[in-house]
Amino acid sequence: MLALYPGSFDPITNGHIDLVRRATRLFDRVLVAVAASAAKRPLFSLDERVALAREALAEFPGVTVEGFTSLVVEFARARGAEVIIRGLRAVSDFEYEVQMAAMNRSMAPDIETVYLSPDTAYTFLSSTLIKDIARHGGDVSAYVHPRVREALHARLAAEGGA
Ligand code: ADP
Repeated sequence: MLALYPGSFDPITNGHIDLVRRATRLFDRVLVAVAASAAKRPLFSLDERVALAREALAEFPGVTVEGFTSLVVEFARARGAEVIIRGLRAVSDFEYEVQMAAMNRSMAPDIETVYLSPDTAYTFLSSTLIKDIARHGGDVSAYVHPRVREALHARLAAEGGA
């Protein structure tokens, strides 16, 4: 069975990777689907986010990464995914995630959303926090793949930040 794990991944963190690792134990194949998310004004372009996720997930054989610009349920159907994976870190994620799952189910009743929670070491991790820490010159090496750390430094240095 193929599971789709959609998100902005701006950039991918060790929390996302922890979820992918858990998903590979449950499903034969996992497709990490990087959303264009233009409205969120991402720090990295879609192609950059896809490339970083591919590098960070290179060690997982059944995992592929693709960018997409359509609705999540349309992309899931196009790829033959019957399951959507999402992460629940804390109660604060719950309201938005349940609302989105209900909307997705209303549009695509044949696709199930499955929630996974990360190791407690990652419950406080978010891409937004990682960008803030890097912007202020903090060390993000415990939270992201080395290539992601390099990309953050390069981008933020180019911005005149850290
Ligand atoms: P989105 O813009 O779709 O929320 P994100 O890349 O922020 O995209 O998150 C994608 C999914 O991964 C969401 O379900 C989110 O809850 C989950 N996620 C993000 N960070 C973590 C983490 N540290 N641990 C577990 N799940 C996470």
